[in-house]
Amino acid sequence: MLSSRILSRSFFASAVNLQAKLTDVLIVGGGPAGLTLAAAIKQSPHLSDLSTVLVDAGDLKEKIGGFYHDPPDNFTNRVISLTPQSKHFLENTVGVSLMEERIQPFDGLYVTDGCSNGTLEMERDSMGFMVEILNIQSSLLAKLRSSNAPNLDLIDKTKVQSIEYEDPEDTKSWPVVTLDSGEQYKTRLLIGADGFNSPVRKFSGIESRGWFYERFGVVATLKLEYPPFKIRGWQRFLPTGPVAHLPLPGTNSTLVWSTTEPLSRLLLSLDDDVFVALVNAAFILEDVDLEYYYKSLQEGTITGEELIQDVDFRINEKFNSFKDDSVIDEKYPPKVIDILDKSRGRFPLKLSHADTYVAERIALVGDAAHTTHPLAGQGLNMGQGDVESLIKALEKARQRGLDIGSLLALEPYWADRYPTNNMLLGVVDKLHKLYSTDFGPLVSLRTFGLNLVNSLQPLKDLMVGKVSGPSK
Ligand SMILES: Cc1cc2nc3c(=O)[nH]c(=O)nc-3n(C[C@H](O)[C@H](O)[C@H](O)COP(=O)(O)OP(=O)(O)OC[C@H]3O[C@@H](n4cnc5c(N)ncnc54)[C@H](O)[C@@H]3O)c2cc1C
Repeated sequence: MLSSRILSRSFFASAVNLQAKLTDVLIVGGGPAGLTLAAAIKQSPHLSDLSTVLVDAGDLKEKIGGFYHDPPDNFTNRVISLTPQSKHFLENTVGVSLMEERIQPFDGLYVTDGCSNGTLEMERDSMGFMVEILNIQSSLLAKLRSSNAPNLDLIDKTKVQSIEYEDPEDTKSWPVVTLDSGEQYKTRLLIGADGFNSPVRKFSGIESRGWFYERFGVVATLKLEYPPFKIRGWQRFLPTGPVAHLPLPGTNSTLVWSTTEPLSRLLLSLDDDVFVALVNAAFILEDVDLEYYYKSLQEGTITGEELIQDVDFRINEKFNSFKDDSVIDEKYPPKVIDILDKSRGRFPLKLSHADTYVAERIALVGDAAHTTHPLAGQGLNMGQGDVESLIKALEKARQRGLDIGSLLALEPYWADRYPTNNMLLGVVDKLHKLYSTDFGPLVSLRTFGLNLVNSLQPLKDLMVGKVSGPSK
């Protein structure tokens, strides 16, 4: 009988097949982190000969891979801001050709406080790049296909059903992964790139700590009235959460509106034109106006048509109070006139951080190791940083003749990444908390802080450097 310790390490126990195929590396997860890792291994002169298997539950080859060869006209709704550092790693180290025509570089961020006049204006040429996640994944798949990567097995539409050690009494023995197709793989190194609910992390027994924010990120692809005057991102902190509107090519733009669960449901249920009016209101009107609209919609005391007219009236009143029209372009994003059909979606927001990213024969990367609030646009970038660091650790291990699955080989990776990720997770969490209130003294304090930072260029440069990497 298995001891309770072994049971806790087993993810749906199954019998170990003696015919399990052997592999050096098995990656669970073909999200951005897992695919980047597979492509980076195959691109590395020190690692490319390692036999590598990647397993994903989704349709990678046809659906995601097809995006590269036959892209849709419209922009998809899962768009992230990639730092220059992450983009450089993907293009120059991994050798990926992203679909450049679908990427929008932006030259700054204009951040405001919805409860006060606090403003922070950050500027830097190509501070970040708005990229669809499907662009990243499909470009990586195209790279793997075009380079005809040797010793790589890409298995999609297949779930990892169970994981156990070859010898259940020996946690240094090789993990055996059973797929729902019945196939089994015995691997020297098992990598969890399998997202927030990571089966690999559960198997490893590595604890993950954190909490749900009781907030959802509502995403949508927006159509603007005219191309932006300045190509930059706009973010406004409301007590319910930040709303951000970032540029895509042409008159397209992507929205992430973090808000409470009931309001996220409300935002998803509205007709397109009412939703558009509320998005414009969120960037221009006062928080009390928004509270009034939410309440009236929830109680059914305002019709969609009335709300649209009221928002238009109040925005016009506000804009008419400016003597100089150029101030409007400087302080507010271009008007949203439509949203792309079926582009609204919502995602629960949470903080999580694994106690370690490595165990004997196991490494975690990306969301399997950490998840963060999207307000600083760092989640996927942290995953790219993990992959870059893990590749360096594996290359070094290979050069030194170490077993790549050993803790000795893997520990430099976690030592390198944990402090950086922990700092970022902490800063983002504090920012979320600081801005999730309309309590007067705190609003005054944060407004003072934001305006102070805004007036100190060296401090601003330091902040821009922290979120987008050093200037080139
Ligand atoms: C609203 C929102 C906005 C965001 N904005 C940004 C941003 O601007 N910048 C940024 O850097 N990040 C952003 N993020 C975060 C970013 O989207 C994630 O960090 C990133 O997509 C995670 O990638 P990943 O590859 O680690 O995990 P995932 O994308 O979750 O991939 C995990 C993969 O594992 C597979 N899998 C899981 N279990 C199994 C199993 N048992 N068998 C087989 N396969 C399995 C899944 O099919 C999936 O493909 C945002 C997130 C949200 C919610």
